[in-house]
Amino acid sequence: MDLRITCIPGDGIGPEIVAEAKKVLDAVAGRFGHAMHYTDILMGGASIDVHGVPLTKEAVDTAKSADAVLMGSIGGDTTTSPWYRLEPNLRPEAGLLAIRKELNLFANLRPAVLYDELTGACPLKEEISAKGFDMMIMRELTGGLYFGEKKTIEEDGVRKAVDTLVYDENEIRRIAVKGFDIAMKRRKKVTSVDKANVLASSRLWRSVVEEVAEQYPEVKLEHMLVDNCAMQLVKDPAQFDVILTENMFGDILSDEASMVTGSIGMLASASLNDTKFGLYEPSHGSAPDIAGKDIANPIATVLSAAMMLRYSFDLDREADAVENAVKEVLREGYRTVDIMSEGCTQVGCRQMGDLLAERITL
Ligand code: NAD
Repeated sequence: MDLRITCIPGDGIGPEIVAEAKKVLDAVAGRFGHAMHYTDILMGGASIDVHGVPLTKEAVDTAKSADAVLMGSIGGDTTTSPWYRLEPNLRPEAGLLAIRKELNLFANLRPAVLYDELTGACPLKEEISAKGFDMMIMRELTGGLYFGEKKTIEEDGVRKAVDTLVYDENEIRRIAVKGFDIAMKRRKKVTSVDKANVLASSRLWRSVVEEVAEQYPEVKLEHMLVDNCAMQLVKDPAQFDVILTENMFGDILSDEASMVTGSIGMLASASLNDTKFGLYEPSHGSAPDIAGKDIANPIATVLSAAMMLRYSFDLDREADAVENAVKEVLREGYRTVDIMSEGCTQVGCRQMGDLLAERITL
């Protein structure tokens, strides 16, 4: 298969971790008989330095012409970098918001996995972490409270602020379909999270999700109130497979789920539109404090590449091979500094990439 991938190395550790993800993808191509065609574009600070803007139209067009986009991370040190003295619409993050909008990415996927070898990093009690967990948070990204009408007014000398939470049934249906499709590739369980006891938008959410569920008889659907979900994530995270939720709830729950894994350098993510197209990137930032030192953990980016193989290219065996390589390397005791523990062998970013690439097997 010919895979056309636009890469955004970005800023900070971005170029280092994307280089290692490409190394692993090339190993997949070699073992499984595919051809990877990469085109790099500039975004964020790297684009500001060259073009004066965080994203050019040409870069967007290149991204749109690919089958998927693989990104490192963008942004610099927000207190010292000159990029943050620019107007907000010219700063690095504006490039990311613009590309998400241009590519119509409405579904955000964030896996939270606790690897057996890294249970020591999990902040939960041992009897909970011992059970492990492997969940996927599917968050609606373009609607809800963050995008509804907002205003701040003053009435009789009292300041008043209004945010509006709006969802229409089409927005809910398209994210629900994505959630159930992903569940079909996993353990076939969807937990739809809402606040249907108080919010009208949540009641519509619940009824549309139930309509979509009828098309997926193999998938078990359960509903959970968001406050209960926040508790269950720390009490019994093993119960979750796919968590399907709206924008603000997903924003908060996905960060909570990330924290319970305890290892930021391991967390992948994807943002999808209504085709197979997606933008894949680690959940962490550009880590300017460690850039250029060859100590960044490339695993989150490598696992994002695995998500790209699975969700944009339907190459499940290849994605499994990448995820198995990660487990294998951890089992053998290799660690980057962020996940280092006693008795393990510390390696740098490049060596971790080499080890992962060597362990890609059919
Ligand atoms: P960060 O995630 O970059 O770093 C937080 C801490 O985690 C740092 O100590 C860093 O060294 C460490 N870390 C992060 N990734 C690591 C990895 N792969 N291996 C080892 N250690 C790692 O968050 P921050 O410092 O708040 O943000 C830095 C910059 O990144 C900012 O400009 C911010 O706006 C940007 N950012 C970008 C994205 C994105 O591109 N999607 C997301 C978050 C933050």
